[in-house]
Amino acid sequence: MASPYSSSLSVWLLLAALLPGLAWAKDVQTTQGQDERTLCLSALPNPDIQVSADTSQQPSMHLAPSATIPLLVGKDQVHGVYLGLTRAAFQLTVRISAREMALPGNRVCTSPIVQIALSFSQIDVTTASELALDRCAHEFVSSHELMHVHFHKEALNNTAASLQAELRKQYPPDFRKIESRASLQVKQEDASQLTAWRARELFSRLNTMHAQLDSPAEYAKAFDVCGGVIARLLPIRTRSGAKLAQGTVE
Ligand SMILES: [Zn+2]
Repeated sequence: MASPYSSSLSVWLLLAALLPGLAWAKDVQTTQGQDERTLCLSALPNPDIQVSADTSQQPSMHLAPSATIPLLVGKDQVHGVYLGLTRAAFQLTVRISAREMALPGNRVCTSPIVQIALSFSQIDVTTASELALDRCAHEFVSSHELMHVHFHKEALNNTAASLQAELRKQYPPDFRKIESRASLQVKQEDASQLTAWRARELFSRLNTMHAQLDSPAEYAKAFDVCGGVIARLLPIRTRSGAKLAQGTVE
């Protein structure tokens, strides 16, 4: 990345020219290392960490025959009856670059810029079309599914907050790195991949609120609401046979 600080290069060439001879090499290196670090700290701004979560994606609402809903997640053999399904496609972009200052020996001093954007590219809510015949039943299942959407969004916000905290720890205000210019790009790509992997891991770890929602009590409720119409519209034989919803993430 183009450096706004490369004009400092001439200062460094002058310093290098003034350094004492070989007999003092060890001391010179130490002094130079300290001087470089001091100069890096004053010449470059602190690391810039930006993690954003965009939860504005609105769900697309669909109707499908109950028997076809598990096929949406690749299941052709299921126990019970699906009343609805929510799918959210998690999306992230990670961009790691750096502010740079050139150092002698084809090295650079860097202060990282980390930009991460988390969002959903798509959210699909499917409810059993059989239930659309009854407004109360349809609304019960739809509102259950929309709670899954809400939990996905909560998880996205929590992921962004956790990731930001981790990155601030990883790159504290006085973090500066001196490395060879040749290795800079590879290191930034590695760091981008690691950060993306960590973001996905955090999201799947934090996206666990769905289990509370899909409780036996909630399934049992499906039999009692709306005068028991759900069991009449769909072939539900036992209380354990209902699958209200599964929140899945692609
Ligand atoms: Zn559910």
